[in-house]
Amino acid sequence: MQASSKVLPSQRVKVSRGEIHVIKERCKQCNLCIDFCPTQVLRESDEANEKGYHVPELVEEPEKGNTCVACGFCQVICPEYAIWIEARRDE
Ligand code: SF4
Ligand code: SF4
Repeated sequence: MQASSKVLPSQRVKVSRGEIHVIKERCKQCNLCIDFCPTQVLRESDEANEKGYHVPELVEEPEKGNTCVACGFCQVICPEYAIWIEARRDE
């Protein structure tokens, strides 16, 4: 019996991505956002605020599939309301 060569129809899928915003002076460097980001795209930046705390920054590696997926978890978990997400959509 010959295998079917029928190709399933493909569909373009729009993927949600996020852009982070940090209110630097509110950050206390607790690192909760970094530790609990499900895609591990946040890290401590070299930049410190006036109190000396290093604020998080977004470091994506799209080629490895590590991107912000705009889940909003960092925004929810931050005890200082210092980080928020703006969703963007890739075409
Ligand atoms: S929105 Fe989600 S994926 Fe994006 S940085 Fe925050 S926790 Fe990570
Ligand atoms: S959770 Fe909030 S306070 Fe803690 S490191 Fe992240 S932005 Fe700063």
